[in-house]
Amino acid sequence: MDGPGDILRAVGARFGTKPALVTAARTLSFAELDDLSDRVAAGLVARGVRAGQVVSLYAQNRWEWVVTYHGALKAGAVVNPVNVMLTAEELAFVLRDCGSAAVFTSAEQAGTVLELTRDLPDLHTVVAFGTTEGALAFDELLASEAPVPEVTTDPDSACTIGYTSGTTGHPKGAVQSHRAVLLNCALTATMHGRRDDDVVVTALPAPHVYGNVVINGTLMVGGTVVLMERFAPGEALRLIAEHRATLFEGVPAMYAMLLADPALAGTDLSSLTRCTVGGQTIPLSTIQRWQDRSGAPLIELWGMTEVAGLGTTHALHAPPVPGSIGVALPGIELRIADLEDVSRDAPVGEPGELMVRGPIVMTGYFNNPQATAETIEPDGWLHTGDVATRDATGHVFVVDRRKDMIITGGYNVYPAEVERVLAAHPKVAMVAAGPVPDDVRGELACAYVVPAAGTEPTEEELIAYAGEHLAAYKRPRLVRFVETLPATSTGKIMRRELIKQFTP
Ligand code: ATP
Ligand code: MG
Repeated sequence: MDGPGDILRAVGARFGTKPALVTAARTLSFAELDDLSDRVAAGLVARGVRAGQVVSLYAQNRWEWVVTYHGALKAGAVVNPVNVMLTAEELAFVLRDCGSAAVFTSAEQAGTVLELTRDLPDLHTVVAFGTTEGALAFDELLASEAPVPEVTTDPDSACTIGYTSGTTGHPKGAVQSHRAVLLNCALTATMHGRRDDDVVVTALPAPHVYGNVVINGTLMVGGTVVLMERFAPGEALRLIAEHRATLFEGVPAMYAMLLADPALAGTDLSSLTRCTVGGQTIPLSTIQRWQDRSGAPLIELWGMTEVAGLGTTHALHAPPVPGSIGVALPGIELRIADLEDVSRDAPVGEPGELMVRGPIVMTGYFNNPQATAETIEPDGWLHTGDVATRDATGHVFVVDRRKDMIITGGYNVYPAEVERVLAAHPKVAMVAAGPVPDDVRGELACAYVVPAAGTEPTEEELIAYAGEHLAAYKRPRLVRFVETLPATSTGKIMRRELIKQFTP
């Protein structure tokens, strides 16, 4: 195999009529996935899409998404998976930035995309999953009689241009090679012991790297993926029980919502053999509560767009180190660099910047040599922007993003530390922390709290509780009660958005 575009050919023949992908609308076997993606490849070539051109995918999780991803790769195109929550303006930025030639989207959003084509000369084809005037219907593309193209793939060439979540600013397009994506899916599958009798329930967005390694890492071993269009806790619980799922995989906020859902008490979770979580810091209390309730280990992982998936996780046989994101994927190098001098390693136990090197690292940011040079050292080490520590056994602990650090009276406070403590309070359902400006100390830590159902915590009691567990300078000075926390399509809490909402 040279890239993820070869996955379906292999499993289509081997697993045939076995269910590969289950969505609310349709269940597809391995052979059907392989055949349908062949049709997409043929249709794209017939419409003038050439090898190396960019095909964008702007839609919710649905079976057509998976078919199109593989079909476009089989046509030799570079896939640009787009976060469906982007506004028309942000979408226009992405499509222009990567010079997209074709966009696949839902019938509802096709109108928006068609309007954009006027200002995007490279964009010549809009395909709608449904019927929209002016767009090519997906069914029509599938009906193409054209032959399936034969392409040869250079493993080092661009497979996907994945835009970062934009948690900290403008999304950047990471160019991920065929080798990087395929290797990441395979290494993740190995670490998590994926097998052909696995049934995975997930609502992770397919465009995100975590969603990608879960979907393709499961399909490549012949496992079944039950893909939710979007996350809803009651529905997720129902699907786990109905399909006797062996894995559930999601971001921390999803576990918090599952644990708070009234249907949890009556749901049979006994089929789960392990679950995975990543994308954001997860409170230890959430890990403990989910493991107690499900009886399955909750395996932490860390990943980023720039490494085409995961960078670290725990192997199944490894002794669990709660709160750690695990160790580097096999064959991938990792170091914790001194925050002031990147050429030096931070001592064991001391915070430094997490750096990654190896074939999973992106080639660079598309069309952005300056950002690439700032992110990848000449000797290949990638700056992740995350502050982390490593213990004597090599297990890594993420402290927080470097950019999110709160500086109060000259002391550094990482919001994640404040969040971890408050998340354990029984009256707290969800919490995020961030800075608020202060005349005396420069910044103060503020906690944004969603109270647990049926409770009325007070600001004083939460600050006092935090004070019992945190050094005085780390204690939040303000607590704001909110109904929900703003999240990205991946379900990551956007601290920046919260801060903007509350800071005049
Ligand atoms: P942007 O780069 O546009 O601001 P983003 O960094 O959120 O967005 P992604 O590539 O989706 O975009 O996310 C990678 C980041 O997610 C990591 O750099 C890290 O900050 C965070 N992350 C991922 N897994 C974990 C984890 N297990 N614990 C803590 N943080 C994590
Ligand atoms: Mg990032």
